[in-house]
Amino acid sequence: MIDGLEERSIGGETGLATRGEPVYGEPTADGWRLWDRSRSKLAVLLDRGVDTGLEAGSTVLYLGAASGTTVSHVADLAGPTYAVEFAPRPMRDLLTVAEDRQNLFPLLKDARQPESYAHVVEPVDVIVQDVAIRGQADVALANRQFLKEDGRLVLSVKARSEDVTRDPEAVFAEVKERLAEGYTVRYAESLEPFHDDHLGIVAEPDR
Ligand code: SAM
Repeated sequence: MIDGLEERSIGGETGLATRGEPVYGEPTADGWRLWDRSRSKLAVLLDRGVDTGLEAGSTVLYLGAASGTTVSHVADLAGPTYAVEFAPRPMRDLLTVAEDRQNLFPLLKDARQPESYAHVVEPVDVIVQDVAIRGQADVALANRQFLKEDGRLVLSVKARSEDVTRDPEAVFAEVKERLAEGYTVRYAESLEPFHDDHLGIVAEPDR
């Protein structure tokens, strides 16, 4: 288990938990906050014991941070955590989440334009991507430049964001094929039953 990540029973629920200020009404006790798998694709992978490369103190680039549900847990245990979100409304909530976390750096930027934040983001151990827009593999390829050689991409692919009309399996196959232009996929499994029609991927950048 990663330092700072523990299985805890809080308020009658058992699951992974991190230590930090609560963010989304999650059950808390003794400074620990439960990490809700139904609201976080990364939590599903960690709960399965998948090696995401995330360790205590890791440097993280998080793409698609929204209001900070998942990235708040990441920042609880990681080191510098750069959180990219392009929508102003969730960014307002994210700024509040960052007030309690000195290592969380919100960036109001478009993940499809990494050159707009390249001057701020240092090389990272892990990229977590959850952007739910068409071209999810392209976003991962564009941001590969930030990954250290032994870093990991943790990508959540939403089939309907690529094409609502197509069979999710066909969409996933296409995304993996495109991703192979810069990454080697080490893990690719459905995130059901917690997230319908989502594929969880862990990949290593090609040298
Ligand atoms: N990862 C979040 C969590 O677990 O707490 C949920 C993310 S939500 C599914 C997807 C987010 O990605 C939305 O807030 C959306 O505004 C953001 N997004 C979509 N396209 C983006 C882009 N090109 N650049 C930055 N953020 C983007």
